[in-house]
Amino acid sequence: MNVKCKNCLPKEGIEVPELSPSEKKKLLELTLQSPIYSVKYLVDIYGLSHLEAKYIVAHVNRTYGLCNRCNFDKLDKEYMVCPKCGSLNFNWEC
Ligand SMILES: [Zn+2]
Ligand SMILES: [Zn+2]
Repeated sequence: MNVKCKNCLPKEGIEVPELSPSEKKKLLELTLQSPIYSVKYLVDIYGLSHLEAKYIVAHVNRTYGLCNRCNFDKLDKEYMVCPKCGSLNFNWEC
């Protein structure tokens, strides 16, 4: 699946691998510990480039529904552009 964020490079977006609910949970846990761990995990397990992995991790919401860039807290879709600030959110419910 291709995702784009108007605030981030590359402008054409990146390709996100299919992630199972347990993988999302794992990535969220790693991100909460340290984003470096989840970047490494994505590179090692999914063979993503460092740039792609960082792009994904930068957009993962630490709190479900809460935008990773502003204080908007009513995000209700998994991959959603925030209606307030326009930032892409990986709003995983896990
Ligand atoms: Zn972004
Ligand atoms: Zn926002």
